[in-house]
Amino acid sequence: MRDPTSFLRTEYDELVHADLDWKLRLLAGPSTPWSIVDGKKVLMFCSNNYLGLSNHPAVKEAAMEAIRTHGAGSGSVRPIAGNMDLHMELERRLAQFKGAEASLVYQTGFAANSGLIPQLVGEGDLVVSDELNHGSIIDGVRLSRAERAVYKHADPGDLERVLDASEQHSPAYRRILIITDGVFSMDGDIAPLDKVSALGATHGAMVYVDDAHGEGVLGEGGRGIVSHFHLSRDQVQVEMGTFSKAFGVVGGHVSGSRDLVNFAYNKSRTWLLSGSAPPAVAAACLAAVDVLEHETDHVRRLWEHTRRFKRAMADLGFDIGRSETPITPIIVGESSVAKRLSQRLFELGLFALPIVFPMVAKDRARIRTIMNAALTVEDVDFAISAFETAGKELSII
Ligand SMILES: *Cc1c(COP(=O)(O)O)cnc(C)c1O
Repeated sequence: MRDPTSFLRTEYDELVHADLDWKLRLLAGPSTPWSIVDGKKVLMFCSNNYLGLSNHPAVKEAAMEAIRTHGAGSGSVRPIAGNMDLHMELERRLAQFKGAEASLVYQTGFAANSGLIPQLVGEGDLVVSDELNHGSIIDGVRLSRAERAVYKHADPGDLERVLDASEQHSPAYRRILIITDGVFSMDGDIAPLDKVSALGATHGAMVYVDDAHGEGVLGEGGRGIVSHFHLSRDQVQVEMGTFSKAFGVVGGHVSGSRDLVNFAYNKSRTWLLSGSAPPAVAAACLAAVDVLEHETDHVRRLWEHTRRFKRAMADLGFDIGRSETPITPIIVGESSVAKRLSQRLFELGLFALPIVFPMVAKDRARIRTIMNAALTVEDVDFAISAFETAGKELSII
């Protein structure tokens, strides 16, 4: 008899053979500036924990206290018996922080995108998406029955072309949703949300931004991309984000009008049919919002370090791409060079992973670095000198 599972081994072996399988690194202990990775003490230079909040004393204490007062789990999905005061308080505080009428918290950012997008659009509708949008957006769009159109990356002219063409469609689309990442995670560039939202307004389309990498980074006190461009809620109707990056915990969220939130919590299947965040998670997220509101130093330091690093890397002659944010790609070309550079940096005590084809174009392999506010200036200089040493050894600079 033929083994019906033989494809599992075959496909895995193919990935290993092509060197495209994920080789998991092991973090022993917390994700701090100096972490133990695969048994070696290294400077963490690729985590999404931009502000170091995953180890902030107030955030950790809030999580521990919530376990004492509320237990380890919530017991249910939100709409049945798992809606705790902590969840409601988190949503109230987040909406306040974002300057939105209301917010809704999901278990993850992935669950927010894949649960909400297919409810906002369906048959007879059109989704217009930036070509480099995150995989969770792509999956959310696939789950909808809407038609899809893609515009060139961060190109308002091409978005306008797509929107103009959509007006010729017969029968007319019922709804149009424009959707974009706020900050693009591979290049660190910022979506032209001001122009995107203006085009949305002239074409009567909804605008949805996924600000996973913009929160805690852009805008006033890290309020995100909508704040960065001084846009109003009428211009960007859906602001989605995550607690798993700068907030340092885990969980997704959307902010917007009260109507949006009422609609979303009655319709998003990922929210309705999946257990709610454990009390420790909700309380830690709440504490992280509080820290962002009251300790503005973290965001300031993140940008100081970012400027110092980018300036030094450009002066050394590295190609640092078009990033405008604390994500700085060090573009080296060939995949094999990026892998060797990452390996050498690790030996020198710096942890930053290579990003290679198929995640980026074949000749645009890179080390993706992400700055962290919890580093000292000496740590940033250590990273620069590790890049200088390894870059010279490998004849990249
Ligand atoms: C990380 C990320 C997500 C997923 O967020 P999680 O909360 O980790 O599931 C969604 N969109 C973008 C752009 C991201 O970078």
